Amino acid sequence: MLRFSTTSLRVRRARAERFGALVSTEEPAATLCVDRRMAQRIGVEGGALWDGEAPSPLAVRALEGPVEVHVAVTDRCPAGCSGCYADARPDGFEPTFEELAARLRTLADMGTMSIAFGGGEATLHRDLPRLAELARSLGMVPSVTTSGLGIDAARARALRAMAQVNVSHDGVAGAYHAVRGYEGGRVAERAIAHLLEAGIPVGVNTVLTRQSFDALEETARHVEALGACELQLVRLKPAGRGRLEYLDRRLDPTRVAALPELLRRLSRERALGVRIDCAMVPFIAADPDVRLEDLLRFGVSGCEAGRSLLALHADGTTSGCSFARTPEMRGAMGWNDRAALDRFRDYPARAPEPCASCPVRPACRGGCRVVAEFVSGDAWQPDPECPRVRAARCSAPGPG
Ligand code: SF4
Ligand code: SF4
Repeated sequence: MLRFSTTSLRVRRARAERFGALVSTEEPAATLCVDRRMAQRIGVEGGALWDGEAPSPLAVRALEGPVEVHVAVTDRCPAGCSGCYADARPDGFEPTFEELAARLRTLADMGTMSIAFGGGEATLHRDLPRLAELARSLGMVPSVTTSGLGIDAARARALRAMAQVNVSHDGVAGAYHAVRGYEGGRVAERAIAHLLEAGIPVGVNTVLTRQSFDALEETARHVEALGACELQLVRLKPAGRGRLEYLDRRLDPTRVAALPELLRRLSRERALGVRIDCAMVPFIAADPDVRLEDLLRFGVSGCEAGRSLLALHADGTTSGCSFARTPEMRGAMGWNDRAALDRFRDYPARAPEPCASCPVRPACRGGCRVVAEFVSGDAWQPDPECPRVRAARCSAPGPG
């Protein structure tokens, strides 16, 4: 457990939770779960929420509001990436500044701590800089993910309200082309240079397919040399156009088995931070050297859809995460009493075998529902690409 003194914390916003409070701080820049005693010391009162014993933060079924909301500011994008999860197109729908501003105010009222803008190509929305400033003025921390299209020196300077910009770069040695169907590495690298010049911290997002996996160490060296502070590895998702060639592009079992050691090597050898997304937790949790207590100690958590995470799509509908795009996974704006979100929230406790008896389930939370929906035809079955699930299915007695 980390210990802070209340006098060393510069609190941006805080809200009561059953375990104590969720606190967004400016110094250090972080979102923290604090216990009830610490919450009181920074002026939060829990009222009826604090009746009874305090649960552990990771054991709470759903927090009192979202921690992070992925806000799509447009469905428009001219790039035409072959695996675009949002199925963005050059003539995609784009809400106005006023519509988006109203949504941000609602999210602030819900207690949201950070806003991750996306699209489509979010930076093509003319008013993105104003939206970032508005999010800041409402007490939320804005960031954005971009392919780098349209980011020149002036546009980069206009984005200074962003706490971080993540540029998608799927790799060197032909990996970018293999993942997206065109070569966009140069555009991404120019954008990284402009953003760094403007003084904005830059992370790089790399989608892991068979091709980008094989180039990953070289890609990490390359983006570190460009000045990125973080490499965020994203599991390929069968959403939008990503459904079309998903089965040929997804990581195969051999590469999944090699992933934990590859991550250890990257962490040892590279200076930039290496992060994995929620959907990759089953891949590392299957490693025999990974223990539940270590995952919990480092706050590693799998599917957070509807628990701390919400996605707000360009058309104003919401879902547990931006990849959950089927009609039954989507609903109207809101956090409480939402059938679509409740199915995500209830899944970890109700997951069938082998997740039900899996020792790392409290951290993994049962794997990715979007992958399960596409590969198994049922979102509420175990993640079929988890090595533990594969092993259990291989050892199950066959019919007759
Ligand atoms: S369904 Fe869960 S694990 Fe999969 S992408 Fe969404 S939040 Fe992540
Ligand atoms: S068996 Fe289920 S809970 Fe365990 S690691 Fe795999 S997906 Fe996660």
